Amino acid sequence: MSITLPSLRGGRTMLVAVCALISLCAGGAAAQQAPASAGPVDPQLIDDLVAANRILADQGVLDGWGHVSVRHPRDPNRYLLSRSRAPELVSADDIMEFDLDSNPVEHKGRSLYTERVIHGEIYKARPDVMAIVHTHAPALIPFGISKVPLKPVYHRSAFVSVGIPVFEIRERAGMTDMLIRDRALGHALADALGSHPAALMRGHGAVIVGPSIQRVVGRSIFLPLNATLQMQAAALGGPVTYLDPEEAQKIEAREGYGLGRAWEAWKRKAMAKP
Ligand SMILES: [Zn+2]
Repeated sequence: MSITLPSLRGGRTMLVAVCALISLCAGGAAAQQAPASAGPVDPQLIDDLVAANRILADQGVLDGWGHVSVRHPRDPNRYLLSRSRAPELVSADDIMEFDLDSNPVEHKGRSLYTERVIHGEIYKARPDVMAIVHTHAPALIPFGISKVPLKPVYHRSAFVSVGIPVFEIRERAGMTDMLIRDRALGHALADALGSHPAALMRGHGAVIVGPSIQRVVGRSIFLPLNATLQMQAAALGGPVTYLDPEEAQKIEAREGYGLGRAWEAWKRKAMAKP
């Protein structure tokens, strides 16, 4: 298709016309970039996501940083995550919808989590994952900066048995400020996570995934607890008896049993805070 411009007198008129054309095109492109919404979700899911933020803050897994997301139940190419806010302060109004390139459906001029790309890139790579937590839990840090692997020592953290890889950002991007600031780094982290339930991020924290909000919250509570218990056992000296892979498999086969009971208690305690 060719566009015939009317004859214009003088360079300045031409410049104004070209600028107007560019402006129109740029405006159109910007409008196209905002992804469409996958539609409203059950308020119960929003309620659970808010509760997940509050529970993980209450349990010391998230502090002023870190975040938790859930995949959109109607569209696997969308996810829900709070605007940039401390998890213990998150409410339903803060929850926003993003596409898997981590563009917000409705920006509303809000400040967003820089590291939200972690969520988008993992949802792309892992169709089985329905919820994700990114934490800076201090108890996990020693296992990301030493050569001692995190191993399952506690029945509630049997999922550790399949191995928890360590993401070394230097291998992927050289010297950085350690944050997952763009999609390429998010993709590299998703690659390091592979099919595992969690990956440690050297000198930074961890990412933990699961098939539901409740499961990922449970895993996020028990992963740092396992790390603490493993360090305490090592400090006693002598050999440590880890869960046998067969024991872990038997526990995992019934993982989730009783989680509803714990979820109710965690939620009540966390939501009771002002
Ligand atoms: Zn982080």
